[in-house]
Amino acid sequence: MVELVDRLATQHSLSDVELRELLKVALSDSTVLQLLRDNAVRTAREQFGLGIYIRGLIELSSYCRCDCLYCGLRRSNRSAERYRLTHDEVMECCKEGYRLGFRTFVLQGGEDGTHTDKWLTELVSAMRREYPDVAITLSLGERGEDSFQRLYEAGANRYLLRHEAANEALYESLHPAGRGLRHRLDCLESLKRIGYQTGMGMMIGVKGQTIDHIVEDLQLIARMRPEMVGIGPFLPHRATPLGDEPAGDLRMVLATVAIVRLMLPKALIPSTTALASLSPTGRLEGILSGANVVMPNLSPSDIRAKYAIYENKASWGKEAAEGLSALEAELQTIGYHIDYARGDFNL
Ligand code: SAM
Ligand code: SF4
Repeated sequence: MVELVDRLATQHSLSDVELRELLKVALSDSTVLQLLRDNAVRTAREQFGLGIYIRGLIELSSYCRCDCLYCGLRRSNRSAERYRLTHDEVMECCKEGYRLGFRTFVLQGGEDGTHTDKWLTELVSAMRREYPDVAITLSLGERGEDSFQRLYEAGANRYLLRHEAANEALYESLHPAGRGLRHRLDCLESLKRIGYQTGMGMMIGVKGQTIDHIVEDLQLIARMRPEMVGIGPFLPHRATPLGDEPAGDLRMVLATVAIVRLMLPKALIPSTTALASLSPTGRLEGILSGANVVMPNLSPSDIRAKYAIYENKASWGKEAAEGLSALEAELQTIGYHIDYARGDFNL
């Protein structure tokens, strides 16, 4: 195992069989998991030092036309509370975020049919005019290539679109009413072609996922070389078909994050809200597995509870934009600090 970790750290790739072996052993042998994480942390420090980038997350809408089996915002969830932010509310969030020191805003939301190109390009253009020095990240699901193009021209720089599952059968089982894996991957290719810094990723521990599926995810990520990779545990939401399923395994999430860091040393990898929601130490453990970004919640406080993709989602305290001093204090306990730079991907 020492040789495998060493080779992953120096050559940034392993075969399917080797990755499977490494994941399996890391799950049961804490020495191997620690070795993997130590290498990932060393690699991240070489790239980013002890600074952690912050992104202000604005949850644009809880309306969604999709029906992903795992998500509390799915259209079939009749008990979900729905809201959508107005243009002015988003601009208020940006004002507050900019004042707090954020230089990246992430607009994330369900696939809301009222988010036409016109509405979104007006919003992105206004953000770009008002804050020329920020990075604007979108995470609004699948759209047409011309729509991605218009939003890019309006001023968006980055797009997060997790591929969710590289294995077609697993992808289909989680999105039986979706547009299919090929369409998701086509969107990712369009985004790259247009010039977005692009983010992929998946949940760990979602129903039906095996270690072999995670290996497929890792190899897809290695082939597509996204600038950002988001990985977190699956967390159940009672009002979904997967509501009785167990949450993803913390060790498996940490091992996967560490492997991605070693495969793509320069990638921007968040220590996800899901990881912070799974365990009180999750955020720090993610960083101590090679993550270098956190995404505090910048949404208006009265709607945060309504953006319930899973239950008990952390959106207060260190996960909140207004809690940056608490986040800074927490990072300092492991020798890190907030890096207020915009934090683009650098070749
Ligand atoms: N609608 C857009 C999309 O799906 O790409 C963006 C918003 S969606 C809520 C963002 C991410 O949340 C998804 O890519 C998915 O991986 C994650 N997610 C959804 N339900 C989850 C759950 N129950 N546990 C953990 N993560 C979840
Ligand atoms: Fe909608 Fe995204 Fe949730 Fe799927 S994961 S139901 S696309 S918000």
